[in-house]
Amino acid sequence: MMLTNHKIVQPIDSASSETDPFGLASALGFGDIHFKIDEPTGLRAIIAIHNTRLGPALGGCRFAAYPSTNEAMVDALKLARSMSYKAAMAGLPLGGGKAVILRPDYFKNRQALFEAYGRFIDELGGRFISSVDSGTGVGDMDAAARHTDFVRSTSADGDPSPWTAMGVRRGIQAAVKHKLKRDNLDGIHIAIQGAGHVGYPLAKELHTLGARLTMCDMDQVATERCADEFGAVIVKPERIFQTKADVFAPCALGGVINDETVHTLDVKIVAGATNNPLASIEHAMALHHRDILYAPDYIINAGGIMQVWMRKGDELQSKVNNIYESLLRTFEYAEKTAQSPAVVVDQMAEKILYGPKPE
Ligand code: NAD
Repeated sequence: MMLTNHKIVQPIDSASSETDPFGLASALGFGDIHFKIDEPTGLRAIIAIHNTRLGPALGGCRFAAYPSTNEAMVDALKLARSMSYKAAMAGLPLGGGKAVILRPDYFKNRQALFEAYGRFIDELGGRFISSVDSGTGVGDMDAAARHTDFVRSTSADGDPSPWTAMGVRRGIQAAVKHKLKRDNLDGIHIAIQGAGHVGYPLAKELHTLGARLTMCDMDQVATERCADEFGAVIVKPERIFQTKADVFAPCALGGVINDETVHTLDVKIVAGATNNPLASIEHAMALHHRDILYAPDYIINAGGIMQVWMRKGDELQSKVNNIYESLLRTFEYAEKTAQSPAVVVDQMAEKILYGPKPE
């Protein structure tokens, strides 16, 4: 347990999420979890609001089938908490939240479902602002926006993923500078897991800068495109964790650095887009002990939230570029204090979220 001024913050894994979701919510600093059932459309949704100290809670809406409501809620809680930390470290006037819509086996009308989601958001009066996440797209946010102003990532706002990719590329450059003392990516070997909305534009940027790519995805069409366009070597998804490379860039699912994979990684750096790639903070320590540099997820993948909030313009461009400097500073401080960068950024974010307010 960590004590940060007035607030006690427990590591995520210390509360038993399986048996006590209220205990987990309380340990993570939540006060606000909203449930909605809308029978006519089949909507079953959860909005978790983690922290609104800096502004309204912004977070994506995940649309997925879950084995249980409990697992959906735990997902929402963990993701919402990450959003608070991400917004705080990005210097945005936003708190953190997340929405999860449980995907039914059958639903008649997707547009009606997301319109009902829009009405749910509106009932919260602006405490929560929704954007997209896994399973949702701009069309869904357009439907929600018919009933509320508190929606981003509509078709007018554009897709944040290329901005996330640009920030991850800047983060990889910072990690390569710190760890390998290199100012360019020429010949640097990067293993990318996932060739989706972020993985594909990331591969494109890295290829342009001369990096050598190994990639995997469950979707063969996605990997074939990367092989054709960027000369990426394609491996089976399970082989990516044993690929000898300079950098491993997870751009698919959370929890991929776990008991099984943490000891098989044959890289010097882990730096990718995935939210919550570490199964637990213990896995950050394991990377640290193996002398593998870890770029904390909510710093390196913040280009997306920056675009969602700022939409476009020079200021956005420069903020995403600055992910390079933020990460370099983090790596230097972590090295000086002999800590994992993951621990360092958690402490920094908790100071902003729970420490005394600046005068
Ligand atoms: P996406 O769904 O477009 O792409 C993910 C890709 O990973 C898909 O092509 C999928 O087939 C592939 N995949 C799934 N399981 C896999 C496995 N076991 N092995 C290999 N490939 C697998 O998602 P995305 O928008 O590209 O996001 C990727 C990650 O980045 C997610 O964790 C997301 O939460 C995070 N993220 C995304 C954004 C954004 O702007 N899109 C912002 C911040 C964080």
